[in-house]
Amino acid sequence: MGPVGPVGPAAVVLVAAGAGTRLGATVPKAFFLLAGQSLLTRALVTVAECPDVSSVVIVAPASHLAAAAAAAFDARVPARVVVVVAPGGTDRGDSVAAGLAVLPDEPSVVLVHDVARALAPASLFTAVIEAVRQGHQAVVPGLPVVDTIKQVDATGLVVATPERSALRAIQTPQGFTRELLVRAHESAAGHPVTDDAALVERMGIGVHVIDGDRRALKITTPEDLVLAELLLERNRT
Ligand code: C5P
Repeated sequence: MGPVGPVGPAAVVLVAAGAGTRLGATVPKAFFLLAGQSLLTRALVTVAECPDVSSVVIVAPASHLAAAAAAAFDARVPARVVVVVAPGGTDRGDSVAAGLAVLPDEPSVVLVHDVARALAPASLFTAVIEAVRQGHQAVVPGLPVVDTIKQVDATGLVVATPERSALRAIQTPQGFTRELLVRAHESAAGHPVTDDAALVERMGIGVHVIDGDRRALKITTPEDLVLAELLLERNRT
């Protein structure tokens, strides 16, 4: 089957404006070093490996815009990829919206990626772009969960235990047709969500899940950094 979705190039909105307080770091998380290279530089090296990506918007803390541009230089992002740097907002959703506001005209597919998932491989970006081009308007990578997940109320009482086999742990990059993602953010109006796909779900539009990748783990705590370093070590050998 040929593509039935948009065939144009893709853009990546790389949200990197978080403080990283849970990491206990003195620099914003994007600038935290993992085996000598910042999370932001690592993510940009991967984006640069994706032939379908023609632009990347780095959404960085307002205090670190020059450092974000320097990370693109360090990552040797090739000249065919347009790099734009924009200041982030107060929560993740605001930061994505800030990135969308300065997106170059050309791309018809937009991926949103958390810098916290700096080890997500280029193959995952490619798979997400491919699924959007095949006609899925919203695509998220997901992994089966190994823990039993329970929903609890404010007092700590369990209210539900969803069937585990139907659950997926959702990662980034998440891919969308540009038109849908822009519309989803316009409709967000003060409803904070933890991912962009949730905005699309609220519009009643289907979100397609593809296989995730363990390397796309979210680096949030100091323990995650240790795990990420082990993963890097294993990939080197
Ligand atoms: O803190 P949280 O887990 O929601 O962060 C997810 C991603 O969103 C991280 O990559 C972080 O840098 C980004 N973020 C952002 N602007 C914010 C908050 C988070 O770009 N105001």
